[in-house]
Amino acid sequence: MSKNDHQTIIVGGGMSGLTAAAYLSKAGHNVLLLEKNKECGGLLNSFQREGFTFDAGARSILNSGIIQPMLAELGIELELLESPVSIGIENDIINLVSETTLDDYRRLLERLYPESVNDIDKIISKIEGIIRDMAILYGIDNPNFKDMSDRAYLKELLPWLGKFIFTLFRMGRKNEPIESFLARLTSNQSLIDIIAQHFFKKTPTFFALGYFYAYTDYMYPRGGTGELPKALVQKIIEWNGNIQTGTEIIGVNPSDKTVKDRDGNSYTFDSLIWSADLKTLYRILDTHDLEEKAPRKILKQKELLLSKRGCDSVYSLFVGVDMPLDAFSSISNGHFFYTPSKKGLGEVHWSELDSLIENFETKSREQILEWLDKYCHLTTYEISIPALRDPTLAPDGKTGLIISMLFEYDLIKKVKEANWYDEFRIEVENRMMESLSNSIYPGLKEKVLFRLSSTPISIASIAGTSEGAIVGWSYLSTVPVVHQLRKIGSSVKTPIPNVYQAGQWAYSPAGIPTAILTGWYAAKKAMKTRN
Ligand SMILES: Cc1cc2nc3c(=O)[nH]c(=O)nc-3n(C[C@H](O)[C@H](O)[C@H](O)COP(=O)(O)OP(=O)(O)OC[C@H]3O[C@@H](n4cnc5c(N)ncnc54)[C@H](O)[C@@H]3O)c2cc1C
Repeated sequence: MSKNDHQTIIVGGGMSGLTAAAYLSKAGHNVLLLEKNKECGGLLNSFQREGFTFDAGARSILNSGIIQPMLAELGIELELLESPVSIGIENDIINLVSETTLDDYRRLLERLYPESVNDIDKIISKIEGIIRDMAILYGIDNPNFKDMSDRAYLKELLPWLGKFIFTLFRMGRKNEPIESFLARLTSNQSLIDIIAQHFFKKTPTFFALGYFYAYTDYMYPRGGTGELPKALVQKIIEWNGNIQTGTEIIGVNPSDKTVKDRDGNSYTFDSLIWSADLKTLYRILDTHDLEEKAPRKILKQKELLLSKRGCDSVYSLFVGVDMPLDAFSSISNGHFFYTPSKKGLGEVHWSELDSLIENFETKSREQILEWLDKYCHLTTYEISIPALRDPTLAPDGKTGLIISMLFEYDLIKKVKEANWYDEFRIEVENRMMESLSNSIYPGLKEKVLFRLSSTPISIASIAGTSEGAIVGWSYLSTVPVVHQLRKIGSSVKTPIPNVYQAGQWAYSPAGIPTAILTGWYAAKKAMKTRN
């Protein structure tokens, strides 16, 4: 084989591509991973600024019965620290601990909405059922990453399988969007919003409410979340896998089995694993020389995918503050979901936002900023404090905060088209700081040493994800990929000969665990193709 010929080429060095590359190189395959950025990690990475470490992607990692067994199987030693979660609304904050999570959450809601005590009871009992199912789903190490000759594990696995099948069945019946599910249990719109606005719009109920289990299953790699992809990179290199960064693929030709990069270099493969945005794959695919049937199927798939949108995006503010860690540890854990007002977003993030985007050209800047005022006051913030998990991640006596909120890509895109992007960013940053300084962190804005932000547009351009999506496809319309867990193994197939797909665009609902699982399945398929 020449330098550019490989058994398997993987495009995309996020968690899915890295998982596929790790398993293929471990099995002795000649694998080449091509990543457009200078570093791998994609939507899971950390960066340093003025002595602080920040996580630019996921703020902590869900074990989900996958991360720990995968690391053990690959022989990766990565210290995973506990990453407990807190939830706060106005001045009321609870720290989540597995045994008491739901009772505390119930009491929090009852204190805030005493008029809806009976409805809260109904909601909590539904969450209880989902937590029981999640405990089955995630309560055992995933068999894909275990040695099947381990008798102790088999003893655990066999009785689990029966329960698992029933859980899959129950999961399938809870696919309704979270907003309408809650609306059947209460007419209190603020109560509906305060629960639902933690999640992406129209998130399937099982996935949304399952977070109450997930909140107690989060872990944080010592050194930052970016240590996980870094550890995988090291292993791949150790097993003689090839990783080439700074290489953006702009053409895929399945008939001569080549991909082409932006500098005009070609790479030949036996099989290709596409671990990046799927809309990009279909846009750059050359189907000219394929046999008759394949292009028709491919065209159909292309039309379907291009008609869909990426999931919600986020606006993140990274702040270094001249305040000691205790000032924050006395308020919450290092992973904190905080809503300054119990009123809930209501129509501010539905009809009012839609109308703002649709009529953007007719709106004055004042009108848009008025909407932004309301949004920043009513939204739910995800606040991550890396040094509350690993104290070495901020200089002594100082604290780094990552503050984020869901944010609509189409709005910021219109702002950019109107040449207002840089000023608008400052307006958003100011309002986020204002909102938290006036509520949970009095005086915070006076203590800022530096701040920087990332918008949905930054995410779209850095990670190459459609609409700046952070977890694959939007739930606002039917997702165009496999979305039943029992079929996840087939989610990696494509109608394109010798091409597999993996990652957050291959399966929904997505996130780190399913990016890893699909990467693993794609690697197995690529091994079989070769055999
Ligand atoms: C702020 C934030 C919070 C999150 N929170 C959570 C959470 O709590 N739990 C959870 O499970 N998940 C969370 N996620 C989502 C999770 O991080 C992603 O779903 C997961 O990391 C996706 O991995 P992936 O490999 O599928 O894709 P990506 O990470 O997007 O990797 C794709 C890679 O492909 C590269 N690429 C793209 N196009 C090309 C090209 N043409 N040529 C070469 N390379 C290309 C990109 O640069 C990127 O490195 C969060 C994400 C963000 C941003």
